[in-house]
Amino acid sequence: MKVPLLDLKQQYRQIKEDVLAVTRDIYDSQYFILGPHVERLEHHIAAYCQCNHALGVSSGSDALIIALMAAGVKAGDAVITTPYTFFATAGAIVRLGARPLFVDIEPDSYNLSPQRLRQCVEALSDEEQRKVKAIIPVHLYGQCCDMQPILDLAAQYRLTVIEDAAQAIGAEYRGRRAGSMGAYGCFSFFPSKNLGAFGDGGIVTVQNETDHQKLKVLRNHGAEPKYYHHLVGGNFRLDALQAAIVDVKLTHLDTWTNMRQTNAARYHQLFTEAGLNEAVTLPQTTQNRHIYNQFVIRVQTRRDELRQYLTAAGVGTEIYYPVPLHLQACFADLGYRQGDFPVSEAAARQTLALPIYPELTVSQQTFVVDCIRAFIEG
Ligand SMILES: *Cc1c(COP(=O)(O)O)cnc(C)c1O
Repeated sequence: MKVPLLDLKQQYRQIKEDVLAVTRDIYDSQYFILGPHVERLEHHIAAYCQCNHALGVSSGSDALIIALMAAGVKAGDAVITTPYTFFATAGAIVRLGARPLFVDIEPDSYNLSPQRLRQCVEALSDEEQRKVKAIIPVHLYGQCCDMQPILDLAAQYRLTVIEDAAQAIGAEYRGRRAGSMGAYGCFSFFPSKNLGAFGDGGIVTVQNETDHQKLKVLRNHGAEPKYYHHLVGGNFRLDALQAAIVDVKLTHLDTWTNMRQTNAARYHQLFTEAGLNEAVTLPQTTQNRHIYNQFVIRVQTRRDELRQYLTAAGVGTEIYYPVPLHLQACFADLGYRQGDFPVSEAAARQTLALPIYPELTVSQQTFVVDCIRAFIEG
C-alpha cells in the first residue's frame, strides 16, 4: 500500500472548479499584483486569526523578514528564538544583520521553553540585554507555544513578540488564535502548510494600525507615495492568483483541520491497540487547539532505520528537523556547540513525521501503524 506523506491532488479535486473559475477571472483582468483579491484575503485571514489586520506577502520567510524590519530590528541587535525550527526563522534574523540567541525547547511540545527563556534573558549582561529587541516563538507542527509566560517576559523587558505561525494557522492557546498574541504573526502559504497556495506566498497579521501601515510601505520597497522613499523595504508582495486560490481554500480549512484532528486521534487509538505506547512517543497536546500540520512521533533509538523501513514499505515520512539550527554550518560563527541545547538535539535524532493529511484513510493509517509494529517487533 502506498501512503504518501502528503497528497495535494486529492485536495485539488475538491476545489478544482472554484479555483479554475476565480483564476480565469484574474487571467481575463490581467491584474496580477496585489489588488482586490489580496485585500479580500487579508480581511478574511485577519478575521480568521482574530487579528486587527493582515498583509499578504511573498512567502512565510518574507513575512518574518518584513515583521522584523517593521519591529526595527537592525544590524548588531539580537533576537531570541528556538534552534528547533525551519531554517527561515533564524535565517530572517541573520539576513537583517542581527544575531539569533537560541533557547532550548520543551521535550513534549517541541516549542520554546518559557523557563529557559527567562533564564537566558536574566543571565545576560546589561549591555547584552539592551541588544535584544524581539522574541520569535515558533508554534511548531501546529501547536501553540505556552505563550503567557513568553508574553509576560516580553512585556517586562520591552521585547517585540513576532509569532512564527507558519505551521499553525487556526491553532489556539487558551482560546486565542496563533498570530493574535504577539505584535506580529507570520504565516506561510507554502503548499505543504495547512493552508497552501499554488506556489509561494505568506501573510503577516498585525494588531496595531501604525505597524500595519509600516508593513504596507515596506512591502513595496518603502515607497510612500509611489517613487518617494523614507524607508528601504523590498518586493514582498503577494500576487492576486495566489491570494484568490488561498481564499478559496480558506473556506475549507476548518473541515480539513477537523479531519487532521480525527486522524491524530485515530493514530493514538491505533498505537494504543498495537501496544506501542511505550516504544513510540506520540504528540502531546499541551495547548488547546492543535491543527496538526505535522504528526510527529519520537523513538528513542533506530529512528533512521525505522524511516528506511517505512520508505521501503511505501510509507512517506520526513524528519523535521535533522540538524538543529545552532549546529548549522552557516551559523558556526555564532559560537554554539554540540550539547548547548540537548532537548533540541535529542529531538533532531529521535523524531519522525508520519502522514496526517486530511484525506488519509483508516486503512492507510492502520497500515502505517502495522509497519511500525512490524519494525519494532523485529
Ligand atoms: C514554512 C515555514 C517558514 C517559511 O515559510 P515559506 O513560505 O516556505 O517561506 C517559516 N517558519 C516555519 C516554522 C515554517 O514551517
